[in-house]
Amino acid sequence: MPLCLASDDQYDAAIIGAGPAGSGAAIALARAGKRVVIAEKASFPRVKVCGEFISPAATPSLERLLTARQLRRADAQRVHELIIEFGERRASWAMPEPAWVLSRATLDMVLLDEARRAGAEVRQPAIVRDVEYGADHASVTLDDGAVIRASVVLHADGKGRFDPARDTPNRPGVVGRKVQLRVPVGGPDLSGIRMRACDGAYVGSVGVECGLVTVALVARSSLVAKFKGAGDDAADAMLAHLWPGYDPAWRETAWLSCGVAGSRYIRSGHERSFRLGNSAAAVEPVGGEGIGLALWSGATLADLLVSGRSLGAVQSEFARAYRRRLRWRRPACRAAAWVLEKPRVMGALWPLLSREERAEAVIAPWYALTGKA
Ligand SMILES: Cc1cc2nc3c(=O)[nH]c(=O)nc-3n(C[C@H](O)[C@H](O)[C@H](O)COP(=O)(O)OP(=O)(O)OC[C@H]3O[C@@H](n4cnc5c(N)ncnc54)[C@H](O)[C@@H]3O)c2cc1C
Repeated sequence: MPLCLASDDQYDAAIIGAGPAGSGAAIALARAGKRVVIAEKASFPRVKVCGEFISPAATPSLERLLTARQLRRADAQRVHELIIEFGERRASWAMPEPAWVLSRATLDMVLLDEARRAGAEVRQPAIVRDVEYGADHASVTLDDGAVIRASVVLHADGKGRFDPARDTPNRPGVVGRKVQLRVPVGGPDLSGIRMRACDGAYVGSVGVECGLVTVALVARSSLVAKFKGAGDDAADAMLAHLWPGYDPAWRETAWLSCGVAGSRYIRSGHERSFRLGNSAAAVEPVGGEGIGLALWSGATLADLLVSGRSLGAVQSEFARAYRRRLRWRRPACRAAAWVLEKPRVMGALWPLLSREERAEAVIAPWYALTGKA
């Protein structure tokens, strides 16, 4: 049965979550004339633990949903080089194409505004409490008791919480953290994208809009446990240990923490239920692929849903497309994270990584692997 409007009080699609996956799907479905409702539990703008670097491989997905003009108006930055730091050593690599950088507070708000403009209805703040699937529709219950009827439900909540048997698992023993800095005039230049390799952690930093620098890191819990004490002070001490040039006086925001999703592709359990973004699969957050996968999955699923195929055929085709997209990305991101967390391996590879002409032998195939569908 293809996706079609069953009655006046029924939406074509109810979407749970307005991260890049949910809003991406909402924009593409609404532009195709589908009746869409999106429920988001947080009020925007909201801060999210994320390094806020969007892989150049995701540029086509991003620019399909937002124009370069919209991105520039939101003060999105363009970056051309990736800097790798290891102890006192530093190497810079030209990226195969420039990448967009925008804070999640702004990006998610701009995407949701575009979904609204395209015709999607937005319920916010609205927490989805329950989803039930019937033969000809699904019912989504919100925290205020309202019930939304829809032909399909798109689970873009980042975890897949409504499918407990298939909840997206966090990688055991690792923690994600984020903070934003304002570096004073005369301080170090932190523009562009930097990735710092450390013992048991990797730290990314990127210059976002309004002169702020976002720092996000993934660290083993055993390392985090060494920095006991009050929240922000302990996190500052850990960052100063990983990055000796860090000055806690630059910190503009409180630290945020979260688990780090790490999963195989998880298919939904019902024909009317689709999982996308992190709810379907996550990659190691090392190459800016998380936002890219989320945007790509939203737009790809929307295209399939409006193609006139049966829901069963859409399920199979979407799963195939996801697996193709992950085939090289997931191992490539995992391997990059593994190398960055191991000083001995980094030290052994440094002669290769630090010479631009040799580094191209690494970065070009890496982006070719991760950047192709
Ligand atoms: C430390 C760290 C650094 C990272 N750095 C990067 C990076 O630099 N670049 C990159 O591309 N990726 C990065 N990622 C990964 C990236 O953040 C995720 O892949 C991305 O957020 C997934 O988007 P999504 O839309 O699937 O889910 P999310 O962004 O998690 O959005 C889910 C939305 O659903 C809402 N929601 C949840 N439950 C409900 C409910 N019951 N009812 C209503 N709404 C609900 C939430 O409020 C949220 O807005 C990083 C991740 C971590 C942990």
